[in-house]
Amino acid sequence: MASPRYSKEKYMVYRGLTLMLTNRCNASCAFCGLRCGPSGDQVMSLSLGRRLIDEAAALGFERVGVTGGEPFLVPNLMFELLEYAKEVGIPKRTVATNGFWGSWSEEKLEEAAERLKACVTHVSVSHDAFHAEYVPTESVFRAADALAEKKIECSIHVADLYGEKGAGPFMASLAERGMYRVFSVYPLAPYGRAEDLPREIFIRSESWDTTSCNTCGILAVSPDGTLFPCCSLGSQDMKLCLGNVNTSSLSGLLAGTREMQVMNVLSDPESFRDFMRYAKEELGIELPEKVSCGCDLCYLVFRQAGIMERIQAYMERAYGNLLLKALFKKVGGEQDK
Ligand code: SF4
Ligand code: SF4
Repeated sequence: MASPRYSKEKYMVYRGLTLMLTNRCNASCAFCGLRCGPSGDQVMSLSLGRRLIDEAAALGFERVGVTGGEPFLVPNLMFELLEYAKEVGIPKRTVATNGFWGSWSEEKLEEAAERLKACVTHVSVSHDAFHAEYVPTESVFRAADALAEKKIECSIHVADLYGEKGAGPFMASLAERGMYRVFSVYPLAPYGRAEDLPREIFIRSESWDTTSCNTCGILAVSPDGTLFPCCSLGSQDMKLCLGNVNTSSLSGLLAGTREMQVMNVLSDPESFRDFMRYAKEELGIELPEKVSCGCDLCYLVFRQAGIMERIQAYMERAYGNLLLKALFKKVGGEQDK
């Protein structure tokens, strides 16, 4: 029988867990959504990381990822947790890094790649004009080559914005050095340190009437144990935190909280858009006509003071409607059989 505290049917949006191992980073990118940098002093404890991985395995999660700040600044912690995730049977184990470790000596790089080969399924490297101010492209490519040699999947993620620091000019500057590599380009959204960048550089080409939440079902835990309901880089500044995993289990925090109702509503595309219309028209929250992604809207709405209280009644209704919709769909499906 399903646990009364965590029903997969009710919270089926969650399939993955991201552990933010530290807020320390060798870089201080001007757009860092998490405001990380060399002075970051928080590091997740090994015991907390292991406990969370145990819980993720018990909940049937298919993915555990580690990120930072820069996870390679705490390599022992990073490797021990990834190796543990493999040991307990988590199928997908990922690392998000800025690739600075590509500058390590031949021997140290080989050792790291060999150890990664034994425990990860994918490495994503963030690199663009902003990261390149701190991490030379040559280091990133050297890291990527070391991964390729070990047949470890790797992708390079490039932030896009208008102007000379956009993905186009940056990738053009790579010329043939960038060929035959896997890049993924994403629109930069104005949260975290990026809030201080000029508004006009953000590519807001999506109509908020058609955008939605692409949460991918990933929870994120910060080094101090705060649990966020999505891995959006803006989540730390929003009022959508689910609690702290130091004082409760993952499943305890996932069960029955109003934030979980909100997440279930947001993860349904139609309900997401209905809610954003409500926020704009009924709550009077100023939302731009065009956005870079759904997170852009969330960031504007969920930073408002007292927002969770203001939307509580709406969310209870919307969540009820969502459950009814799911029930009708299920009944309809059974009748069609
Ligand atoms: S964006 Fe990434 S590399 Fe840059 S400061 Fe933040 S965590 Fe570090
Ligand atoms: S749209 Fe909102 S809930 Fe969805 S991933 Fe972005 S910030 Fe999180």
